[in-house]
This record gives sequence, structure tokens and C-alpha cells, in this order.
Amino acid sequence: MEALLPASLKRLKEALERLPGIGPRSALRLVQALLKKPELLQALWESLGEAAQQVRSCMRCGFWAQEELCTLCQDPTRVEPVLCVVKEPADVLAIERSQAFRGHYHVLGGVLDPLAGVGEDQLRLSVLWQRLRTEGYQEIILALGTSPEAETTAYYIARHLADWPGRITRFASGIPVGSDLEYVDPLTLARSLRERLPLSL
Ligand SMILES: [Zn+2]
Repeated sequence: MEALLPASLKRLKEALERLPGIGPRSALRLVQALLKKPELLQALWESLGEAAQQVRSCMRCGFWAQEELCTLCQDPTRVEPVLCVVKEPADVLAIERSQAFRGHYHVLGGVLDPLAGVGEDQLRLSVLWQRLRTEGYQEIILALGTSPEAETTAYYIARHLADWPGRITRFASGIPVGSDLEYVDPLTLARSLRERLPLSL
């Protein structure tokens, strides 16, 4: 059936299929919906172009930004001397939705996963070590999720920071095993954050 599609639509469909959660059927439905609404196709075209050109990683925390620093890093009211380390930018939004945190974030960009080719050099670890040396935090929360790779990464970071004088903590239980923070409801997240526990090696 694929052969029946005009080449440009086939490419569009294949590009959509590479997105998380989009299978061949959903991709085809999206293509159909876009073609039915030329204004939607145009808006998507423009916003994709803008995002590709203007969005980058905040040079400090790694969250999405349009300038060197993201809006969170530029916010002078975030004064809690706590650094929350998360896997991806969407995790920052999940924790912000909980309204339980007024410190700063550090987006690692993934977790250690040797089988998938993700090692220390693929993550924003050297920036993390530098921030902990220079930005005066008293606590680091390792909020990387509950997958085995996330656990390994949390312990890797904790071991690296064995001589760091601040507290190293993690969320209290309540986060379902294997789930990403973005799927945890804000109340649960707020409670896990408030009741966070020291990470013991
Ligand atoms: Zn930032």
C-alpha cells in the first residue's frame, strides 16, 4: 500500500513514524488530517522551522531556551540552593507542574545506558560537576526516574560526589517503577519531592 502514496507524503509519513508513540497507522491519520487543513499544515511548517532555528539547550541547565539561558535560569526568585537533576527537559515541566520546587534544574539529556551507546560523554555530566563546584548548592536531588538505567546513573553520580559536602537525595517512594516523571500526577510528585530521602551508597 505504501507504494500508492506520492513520494513526498511517504517521506512525511516516515518522518512522523519516527516520533515516539506514533505507529504507521497514526502517522497516516496525521498526514490525512494535515492535508485536510492546509492552514494547520502551514502553521506546523512555520513552527517546526522556528523551533529548528531558535530553540537550543540552556547552556547552564540544559532545558529548552531561545537565549543562552532559559527562563528558569533567568528567574531571580528561584533562590533555593538545591539542584534537581533530571533526565529530559519534559521532566522539568513535570516537576514545575507540582509547584513544589523553587530551586534549579540540571537536565542530563539521558541516563547511562551502555547497550544503547549512552556513556558518560553523551550526558551533561561535566557541566554538572562544574555547577556543583561553582554555584553554591547545598543539596542535589537525583530525580532521574525509576528504570534500572536511571538507578545506575543516580549511583554513578552519588559515587562521583562522595566528597561533595552537600546532601544527595532522591524522591521518596510513590513514583511507579519504570515510569517517566512526566506521567506521574503532580500531587504524587509534590509529595515525593517534599518527603525526599538521602541516597545512601
Ligand atoms: Zn537554564
